[in-house]
Amino acid sequence: MDKNKTSYSHFFPKHSFHPCFYSYIWTNQNGGIMKHVIIAGGAGFIGSHLCEYLLHKGDRVICLDNFRTGHPKNVSALTNHPYFKLVEHDITMPYMIKGIDEIYNLACPASPIHYQDSPIETTKTSVIGTLNLLELARENHCRFLQASTSEVYGDPEVHPQPESYWGHVNPNGIRSCYDVGKRCAESLCMDYHRRYGVAVKIIRIFNTYGPRMACDDGRVVSNFILQALQGKDLTIYGNGMQTRSFQYVDDLIQGMERIMSTPDSFTGPVNLGNPEEHTILEFAERILELTGSRSRMVFRPLPADDPKRRNPDITLARQALDWHPRISLREGLQQTIAYYRNLLAESPSQNISRP
Ligand code: NAD
Ligand code: UDP
Repeated sequence: MDKNKTSYSHFFPKHSFHPCFYSYIWTNQNGGIMKHVIIAGGAGFIGSHLCEYLLHKGDRVICLDNFRTGHPKNVSALTNHPYFKLVEHDITMPYMIKGIDEIYNLACPASPIHYQDSPIETTKTSVIGTLNLLELARENHCRFLQASTSEVYGDPEVHPQPESYWGHVNPNGIRSCYDVGKRCAESLCMDYHRRYGVAVKIIRIFNTYGPRMACDDGRVVSNFILQALQGKDLTIYGNGMQTRSFQYVDDLIQGMERIMSTPDSFTGPVNLGNPEEHTILEFAERILELTGSRSRMVFRPLPADDPKRRNPDITLARQALDWHPRISLREGLQQTIAYYRNLLAESPSQNISRP
């Protein structure tokens, strides 16, 4: 299987992209308006799926990335596409361009290992980077989607977490660069909306998985699958009774598209995640079952500030976006396991990361 092969072709009719210029509006082969879109962080895991999806839909995509945790290979299948442009750029520096319709801000290291490895850069990316892109949105009078996170709830004391919950966040711990940075980014978005009328859309993404997650990102999905496929011990942190809710990346992309189409007055924040909650132990058992692996489970210390429970309340997403996840954990994991199997067949020595 080609690891960069898109999984979105089933959403759209087969077509080539022949835009025609009509009354100052670009249209695509689907008869829709061809939007000019920026995806910051587009060479990362989620960003690369979004680039693919929007290009298939008929949009023009500029992918901005500094390749800190992403990689050009994630979008290598798109580089010859006539309406795709990959630009190496760090969003902590301003980026100037006219004629943009939508900006998706996904740029930020997302896995605990990666953001804790470069905490100051992570805060700068969330705060200065988001500020720069909001300025660009203001200049272009365009829509702006902010990829926020369930981490804004910290180690939550309310279950499941609705958007109205203000969270329980350590302001200066090892996860703070990410949690507090993302909270500040949300605050900036709302201030640009109130002061300048920028049409911001804030999504709070819960644990998302799928093909192209980096092998060395240290996340539970990539670690367990790679450990299982390589016959290594599955490393359970703590007693494994902490919970997470796992959403397949295709479901998230659908949610992102839906919120981008809401009226300008709808800002969110909206939780996008799968409300099916699993302990990490149950999750490990599921991986062993689906991979057919005979790996053992071993217990390792729980990292500091590791949230004990996480589960999204998606009532708002259901009501406002008519959205809920459609891909089961089994189906999503099968796709993801197949991806990693292929990767290992090509290059067997993939190393995972541990704290
Ligand atoms: P990722 O690390 O694969 O992607 C992030 C991308 O941003 C990478 O390509 C990286 O190189 C790029 N980047 C980082 N700093 C940058 C900067 N200063 N300038 C330009 N590019 C920069 O992570 P992901 O899992 O794809 O996450 C994408 C977004 O979704 C992130 O903002 C993350 O906070 C958010 N999110 C993800 C999850 C998840 O489970 N994957 C959960 C909650 C929120
Ligand atoms: N985890 C684990 N073993 C691993 C990696 C992670 O037990 O090899 C646990 C981690 O401690 C956390 C959960 O799995 O409780 C999810 O971790 P991840 O890094 O994927 O995302 P988080 O939700 O913590 O940002």
